[in-house]
Order: sequence, then C-alpha cells, then structure tokens
Amino acid sequence: MPNELPPPVVGARFFFALWLPPAIASQLHSFSGGVVGRCGGRLMREDALHITLAFLGEVAENRLPELHEIAAAVELPKAQVQLDRVGFWNHNHVLWAGSKEPAPVLEKLAADLQKTLVEAGFLGEVKPFVPHVTLLRKLLHPGTLPEIQAHEWTAEEFVLARSWPSDRGSAYEVVARWPLK
Ligand code: ATP
Ligand code: MG
Repeated sequence: MPNELPPPVVGARFFFALWLPPAIASQLHSFSGGVVGRCGGRLMREDALHITLAFLGEVAENRLPELHEIAAAVELPKAQVQLDRVGFWNHNHVLWAGSKEPAPVLEKLAADLQKTLVEAGFLGEVKPFVPHVTLLRKLLHPGTLPEIQAHEWTAEEFVLARSWPSDRGSAYEVVARWPLK
C-alpha cells in the first residue's frame, strides 16, 4: 500500500531511521534491563529501538510530501546491520549498541539521505553518522561496559518516524516506510 501522509501532531519532530526487528529488539531490551538493575538509567521501550539515519526536527506540515518524495527516490540495496559493541556517551548519559565496523551501504544510506535533505533545505549540514541504538537514557555511572552478544540482520526498509513529548519521555511512531532494493 502506498504511504499516506500522517495526521498532524503538534510539535512533532521527524527522523528517518531503521527500526529494529522485534526479535533483536527483545534481546537488546532484556540485556538493557539487566544493566538498569545494576546501574540505573531509564530503559527505552522495546518497540522504540531504532537507528537514526537523519534527524530533521520539526517539519512544516506542507513540506511532508517533499520528504516522501525524497525517500521514495532512494535506490539503495538492502543493508547489513551489525550490533556488536556497547558504548556510553558521557555528555548525554546514553548507553547504546553499535557496530565495530558499519557496513558501507548503511553509511551510504545515511549520507545520501542527509545530502538530499541538505539540498532540499531540511538540514543545515551533513553530520557524521555513528550508527547506534539508544538502549538507556539518564545512566549516570555505567561502570565497566558490559559485553554484548553480536546481533546482525538485513535491513529491507527504512522508515520516517515522528516523536513527541509524553509523560514517559519521547513517544515515537513510524509514519511511513520505503523498501531498500
Ligand atoms: P528527547 O529529545 O525527548 O530526550 P529523543 O532524543 O528520543 O527524546 P528526539 O529528540 O525526537 O527524541 O530524537 C529522535 C531520534 O533522533 C533519536 O534517535 C535521537 O537520538 C535522534 N536525534 C535527536 N536529535 C538529533 C540530532 N541533533 N542529531 C542526530 N540525531 C538526533
Ligand atoms: Mg532528543
């Protein structure tokens, strides 16, 4: 079914992303639950786990069709995604899972999308892409970072998602999907 434009949500922020397959999301969520038990932090919801490809922030309602056109024009192959390392960012207290060596096609997907979005005026600049899945927020002291079991899958699609503030942190919703070839 072709993508339809979503009903508006006031103050929503948009981003392109790869959503995690449910089985891998479930395993990562269990892993993160163990870390919360030992170290604290706020667990991301299992169905919210994703890798952001390009973050747009707020987008004017009348520009959403352009976003859809940009996404529909992407002609890139399916991307192999590996999550085989855990990292922690001090500046935002985020624990994440990422790739030791991201697949070039995954980097190209993010770079091409961002480049087109800059050309269309949605983004100010192309930013370095560090593929990662946020697992925990507000983690103050991770201690020794735990090892993670390696997870791998083939991303067959990418999505446009939006987020908005809720009383349990940001809520996300996938609003459209496009296949990788
Ligand atoms: P909150 O901002 O309320 O703490 P959040 O960061 O999950 O929650 P958003 O800010 O809407 O929600 O971000 C949506 C996704 O885009 C997240 O994966 C987030 O890490 C990513 N993101 C947000 N801001 C940027 C940015 N400036 N550059 C790159 N990615 C970003
Ligand atoms: Mg944010």
